[in-house]
Amino acid sequence: MGLVEPESMDQCLYFSNRTLGELGKAKAWVYKKQCPKCGKVKMGKPVEKGKVKIRAKEYVCPECGFVEDKKEHEESLNMEIKYVCPKCEHEGEADVPYIRKTFQGVKSIVFVCGGCGEKLAITKKMKEPKKKK
Ligand SMILES: [Zn+2]
Ligand SMILES: [Zn+2]
Repeated sequence: MGLVEPESMDQCLYFSNRTLGELGKAKAWVYKKQCPKCGKVKMGKPVEKGKVKIRAKEYVCPECGFVEDKKEHEESLNMEIKYVCPKCEHEGEADVPYIRKTFQGVKSIVFVCGGCGEKLAITKKMKEPKKKK
């Protein structure tokens, strides 16, 4: 595939560099979305008095003011992932919709290893998935 890694965090809505299990690792990011209305700039969380409203429930275009619901906006994007599978140590890339699903009890972006077919997850926070007993 050949994913292009972001040059800076500013380009991303989400960026994470983490380990997957004991042997694996993953670098995952979601690029900001170009405003679908004016097409001039990337959309982001609203800024009020110079401060980004992190918890805002919508994304806005700083150029034309186009507003999109947070969920709708995020679900229209893709997460790009470069990973080393913790199971088979396959090095691969994945490109999946940025839609969180519950996986092993944790909201995660789930993708499948191209080497062994194992389901792998990028969790929202650094929480470890619940271990099955
Ligand atoms: Zn715009
Ligand atoms: Zn694998």
